[in-house]
Amino acid sequence: MKETIQTVCPYCSGNGYVQLVLGGSETCYCCSGKGVTVKDKQ
Ligand SMILES: [Zn+2]
Repeated sequence: MKETIQTVCPYCSGNGYVQLVLGGSETCYCCSGKGVTVKDKQ
């Protein structure tokens, strides 16, 4: 049986996007805009 753990994405703080230095925002590449990262529990 496989368990997964969802945690708030540390890169975008759960927003799903990141602010760009030059202005505007971009979908977070770390979580693909979901705002959470999923880890497989070992
Ligand atoms: Zn993210």
